[in-house]
Amino acid sequence: MRGQATLGVAVIDETQLQAVTGSGELVRVEGLRKTFRSGTQEITPLDGISFSIERSEMIAIIGPSGAGKSTLLHILAALDTPTNGAVYFGAKSLKSLNEIELAEYRNSAVGFIWQRHHLLPDFTAAENVAMPMLVRGEPMTEALRAAREWLSEVGLADRAGQSAGELSGGEQQRVAIARALANRPALLLADEPTGDLDEGNAESVFELLMRLHRSHHLTSILATHNLSLARRTGRILVLEHGKLVPTANVSAGMASASTAQMATVEAQISGELG
Ligand code: ADP
Repeated sequence: MRGQATLGVAVIDETQLQAVTGSGELVRVEGLRKTFRSGTQEITPLDGISFSIERSEMIAIIGPSGAGKSTLLHILAALDTPTNGAVYFGAKSLKSLNEIELAEYRNSAVGFIWQRHHLLPDFTAAENVAMPMLVRGEPMTEALRAAREWLSEVGLADRAGQSAGELSGGEQQRVAIARALANRPALLLADEPTGDLDEGNAESVFELLMRLHRSHHLTSILATHNLSLARRTGRILVLEHGKLVPTANVSAGMASASTAQMATVEAQISGELG
């Protein structure tokens, strides 16, 4: 399989790959609980959360600042571990993966986009995008060639050789998106990806994410407190006092939900965000 020579362990074997690339559930979260301890204080931003995401779905997780959105995405990306509960990717529980498999999951199965791009400013845009491919064992020439293709796909073909630190905020976020997709992950996690951008750039970066989500058959989870962006995804989940409250299937459900139902959902969401 492409580029798995270095780590040598496939997180997803062929059977599981079929499960992942076929129809049905890609991610399942069961009874997730996360408690942070700071001195004598205990915070439980996630208090028994369960949900699943179908392949090719794009969902938004909303809730006010501090609700636990980042915590949830970090656990889904295996950047943090839950206090209780489990995350399944395809048929595999993340708990069952060893350190090498987890590293591969983080690098290849998941693409992560942060509010701040976290690019290496002294490296070129192409080198930044090539980084996850190099970690995976791609030869430099091939990784840079693929990186330039990704940069072209995010509208930055002419910026490949420019230092990341010299790019504008919107361009940096586009490079970060290209880097997140470089290893062709099945799951894209975006944590307030437009939160640092002005309105115009936020709109074009969001449009780009929607386009890439569709064209690469991604399964995408967007954490945001921007309700108007969240409404453009397929489904909104609201984090509320440590619980995840399903609201409505916005794209399909808009047509079928009654006005009263939608008003209730909107009031619920607005209340959460107000
Ligand atoms: P959101 O992304 O919705 O703004 P976060 O997931 O960042 O929320 O944070 C949820 C809560 O957990 C907050 O009260 C935050 O202070 C707390 N928290 C997050 N990470 C840590 C940590 N490493 N140690 C202690 N508390 C944390």
